[in-house]
Amino acid sequence: MSAQKKPKKYTLRELGLSADRLDRHAVSITDRLVEAGFQAYLVGGCVRDLLLGMHPKDFDVSTNAEPDEIQALFKNCRLIGRRFRLAHIHFGRHIIEVATFRGPHVKHDKNDSHAHKDGRLLRDNVYGTLEEDAWRRDFTVNALYLDAQNKTVIDYVGGIDDHQQRVLRLMGDPVTRYKEDPVRLLRAVRFKAKLNFQFDAETEAPMNDLAPLLKDIPSARLYDEILKLFLNTKANDVFDMLRQYDLFDPLFPQTELCLKKASSDMPLALIKQAMENTEARLKNHQHITPYFLLATLLWEPVRRLTQQNRHTFNSDTQAIHAAANEVVAHQIGRIAIPRRITTPMREVWALQPRFHKQVGVRCLRFLDHPRFRAAYDFMLLRAQHGEVDVKIADWWTHIQTLAPAEQKLMTRPSQFKHKRKAHKKPAKNVPPVE
Ligand code: ATP
Ligand code: MG
Repeated sequence: MSAQKKPKKYTLRELGLSADRLDRHAVSITDRLVEAGFQAYLVGGCVRDLLLGMHPKDFDVSTNAEPDEIQALFKNCRLIGRRFRLAHIHFGRHIIEVATFRGPHVKHDKNDSHAHKDGRLLRDNVYGTLEEDAWRRDFTVNALYLDAQNKTVIDYVGGIDDHQQRVLRLMGDPVTRYKEDPVRLLRAVRFKAKLNFQFDAETEAPMNDLAPLLKDIPSARLYDEILKLFLNTKANDVFDMLRQYDLFDPLFPQTELCLKKASSDMPLALIKQAMENTEARLKNHQHITPYFLLATLLWEPVRRLTQQNRHTFNSDTQAIHAAANEVVAHQIGRIAIPRRITTPMREVWALQPRFHKQVGVRCLRFLDHPRFRAAYDFMLLRAQHGEVDVKIADWWTHIQTLAPAEQKLMTRPSQFKHKRKAHKKPAKNVPPVE
């Protein structure tokens, strides 16, 4: 694909897009910039999503005004970023990001400080023209500019055609573009799932081969990306695609190894169930926490290691703690999961053995544990997949419905004698440790 000199222009009417759907704050920003003599457009994900009838997460503006010029025009403006400065324009809690057009980075040569030796771009901070700004973006459907004053969409890259054909196409030579920024491999999967598009063949072809490049991405950036990958209503498709394109292994190597080695489909089914639950909660506008999903993604390595080391510890809880330490330490080398997330993850794991104790006051106290609810949900997930006896799960479901006096009765040792032995046995269909 080569740069078109003249862009195609489409009216909003032709595209079936009503101007009422544009964010009024974003439009007011472009109005002000244009009045001041600059070019200014709505750009990127918001244009793409509007064209699909979706509700954009955020509205971004792109302009030829430089950050200081933007700041001079808006009182409610803060400049952020060091290498590439961006303007954030605040409307209460609502923020519109305004970026100056970026140009192509300097051509690679051996003295080029902008590129890493494997082609990765380290800096991307040169101002450019509208056309250059379009070509440095990732997918054609992400490079459409909406001119709110003239009610048109400007397309340098064939994005409208691809949009209409529902094709996700990386601009330029895909191998070069993935090498410049391997996170584009993850973005490809995320957008394919979100938009329900097909990959252009050239965009898809190098993905598996280039997947190992993700190992070089800073772990903090990967944390942000995996949240975007999994905390959405297409989490399950994303997960399947990540595995299909060998992208899951560089992100969660311990989990991928366990899934490959597994002698039953239980570990996979548990993860997929958790993804489904996340999707359902999001569709019902319920709260979701990343730690729960991450706890399920890393559970199989923790469970296996716990079983392997069980004989060296005095209790299951100690064995789980030790396994969790090892698994988390490995994982944060790859993805910088912050401590505020790893702490509750570990708690949910470490509380699992307590569900097997159904007698005494400690068991009653467990019901009031701040992490009880999450640990209980996690245990239910395990029970659904044969890792915990369903009778135990039912017992904990039932006790929560009772008044305190009845709960006390339920946890009396005499209520329980006949069952105690059974609880020590693992559930039948838990796969053996290999
Ligand atoms: P969403 O916000 O729904 O996840 P988006 O397309 O808005 O999708 P952002 O990450 O907000 O994604 O990025 C905004 C725009 O910036 C994109 O549409 C794309 O044009 C450009 N962009 C973002 N990341 C990259 C990248 N890694 N390489 C090239 N262009 C990018
Ligand atoms: Mg966005």
